[in-house]
Amino acid sequence: MTELYQDQIIDLLRQHVEAGCDAVLDEAPVDHYAAAAPSAQAQNSSPPDSRAATASTMQEAMQEAPQAALSTPHPAASVPPVAPAVAQPALGETNNAAAAATAADLAKAAQDLLALQAAMQGFDGCPLKKTAKNTVFSDGVADAKIMLIGEAPGQDEDREGRPFVGRSGQLLDAMLASIGLSRDENLYIANIVPWRPPGNRTPTSDEIALCAPFIRRHIELVQPDILLLVGNISNKTLLGTETGITKLRGQWQNYLPDTANIKTLPLLHPAYVLRRPETKAAYWADLCALKQHMLNA
Ligand code: URA
Repeated sequence: MTELYQDQIIDLLRQHVEAGCDAVLDEAPVDHYAAAAPSAQAQNSSPPDSRAATASTMQEAMQEAPQAALSTPHPAASVPPVAPAVAQPALGETNNAAAAATAADLAKAAQDLLALQAAMQGFDGCPLKKTAKNTVFSDGVADAKIMLIGEAPGQDEDREGRPFVGRSGQLLDAMLASIGLSRDENLYIANIVPWRPPGNRTPTSDEIALCAPFIRRHIELVQPDILLLVGNISNKTLLGTETGITKLRGQWQNYLPDTANIKTLPLLHPAYVLRRPETKAAYWADLCALKQHMLNA
């Protein structure tokens, strides 16, 4: 490979990253444009019922199969389909249900934080793990009385394997330091989802549901006195609320699993505060309320 060729490749990769394509999903690149274009030969010369068989890729076969089905009635088409006695889940749902059951079993079996971390690192049921570099488990003091829970790792967190180390994490650290909280001394930090969603997108409800048993067990093992839930996703997941974070922030809640009742303070996500600097005053007011609560406790 010549120097120039290498430079071109690096340039192309950089362009992809800038355009938001920062994760590799398959071992080999796939040209979806080429795969989706029906081949002239398949359109012009193949009889409809052999289209799927002559399609050169799975994508072509999938594109053409419905047309073939329409133009060539199946011998059994006139027989009304027999409805299954019980509605069958689609294959994806079955896999999700199985993965969710595995996650719940693994989480329940973990007797301490190290075991939970190992269980999560060994769990392959969440598709996000495939594109993530690290399982971002936690940071801070494991027996801290205050546990903060965010949404999911971003690019910096995925690279370093620790939560909240990027720009929003730095703002979070600075604001918490002003009320005497730091991950080096008295704070423990984790996320609802431990794997970075590609392109920093919001995790889907399926991905959140798959990871929920792990964060619930995580809280059980840390046993904090106070939970700080930052952003919409962590509040919706752990409090089961539909109220948005801009309404909920600063209002004390109770996190009520089977075994405890933990005082919980919803906070704005620091990434939101970075985007909307005018919300800093509200953030500061919520942290003052937290400080007051700590002083009274
Ligand atoms: N945002 C989060 O919610 N968590 C992180 O760890 C980083 C950014």
